[in-house]
Amino acid sequence: MHSFQYKNGELYAENVALKDIAKTYGTPVYVYSHETLLNHFMAYENAFKGFPHITCFAVKANSNLAILNLFGKHGGGADVVSGGELYRALKAGIPANKIVYAGVGKTEEEIRYALKNKILMFNVESGDELNEIDRVAGNMRVKAPIALRINPDIDAETHPYISTGLKKHKFGIPIENALVHYKLAHKFKNIETVGIHKHIGSQLTKISPFVDALKRILLLVDELQKNGIRIRNLDIGGGLGITYRDEVPPHPSQLAKSLLPLLKERDLTVVLEPGRSIVGNAGILLTKTLYLKEGQDKQFVIVDAGMNDLMRPSLYDAYHHIQPVVKNKRAIIAADIVGPICESGDFLAKGREITGVKKGELLAVMSAGAYGFSMSSNYNSRPKVAEVMVKGRKHALIRSRETLKDLLKGETVPELV
Ligand SMILES: *Cc1c(COP(=O)(O)O)cnc(C)c1O
Repeated sequence: MHSFQYKNGELYAENVALKDIAKTYGTPVYVYSHETLLNHFMAYENAFKGFPHITCFAVKANSNLAILNLFGKHGGGADVVSGGELYRALKAGIPANKIVYAGVGKTEEEIRYALKNKILMFNVESGDELNEIDRVAGNMRVKAPIALRINPDIDAETHPYISTGLKKHKFGIPIENALVHYKLAHKFKNIETVGIHKHIGSQLTKISPFVDALKRILLLVDELQKNGIRIRNLDIGGGLGITYRDEVPPHPSQLAKSLLPLLKERDLTVVLEPGRSIVGNAGILLTKTLYLKEGQDKQFVIVDAGMNDLMRPSLYDAYHHIQPVVKNKRAIIAADIVGPICESGDFLAKGREITGVKKGELLAVMSAGAYGFSMSSNYNSRPKVAEVMVKGRKHALIRSRETLKDLLKGETVPELV
């Protein structure tokens, strides 16, 4: 359940009319509901309440400082995949000992930065990376806490671009090589083996891949134990799906109910890395219709938000529900809802049935809170849009709209030109 609902035919974010948001902040604008953000975060906290755990929000899903701060205030940690995300998480007040760091390409500089700040653990993706972390930690005379990211070869049954847990993927260490890598890690002087990690993909709508993957990982944990390697942190990744259209993904409580019995009697802290399932349906992209255009055999609704603001439809052919901010009784049309970018791939929806739209009218692109703003770019030299948080009757800017001047930040014309 989310907090974007119609009241008397007008779409609201909690108790604020989206029409008023558009008037105050302009469009396009991302709007987040404080209530939904918190409810979705607490759904994990409550589901795993009886077991030692840390909910490390996946920063890449939405990296706004105010949103990270909100989760941090309620006990959340962070799952980061770059030095930049680590910087954001720390600036948002998330304690370093609740931060895990994944990614196949960590640089020496990033490793040093994470070590200096004493994060909970590195989720290491290769033997080569293990070497590098040991070397950097040695230079700093510290011990690096690590988990190995294990690729359990489980089909997450999701979109190929957001599936990560099969042999063919670049992520993690193949499960059959895990023991060898753990033994290697154990030998390194500057490395402390504290955990195990897996993340098999995103937008998962079934529990079974989570269960199958965990069973495989636990067999490995036992094998490691026999080899004198004790695992303290069990990081089960993120990936729970959301309803974009008609999917019926499991609730975090169902996930907990299926996984926790497997962990009984085990002295472990579970690390969770949810992203999409916390923020996805807590945010929308509000956009204004600029023009209507009759094509050869279809209609185009041209709006002021483009693929640079919300990339998912272009990148993954993702479905986002699009609805009018003010309901009307006009006839349903089938239209391509497109942005102003000079690319044929710039669309928010194709062949979409929607009640007739008029120039100047507002549309809400739903379920845009995850991988929305965080994937946005300045392509076509479009300033990044504003982000607003709504709480009850209150609303506040959490990121101001970029100005034209911002577009040139860091650029210079040197003499050699
Ligand atoms: C992207 C990612 C997540 C979050 O995935 P969601 O599907 O948004 O929950 C968690 N862990 C890792 C390692 C990731 O790469």
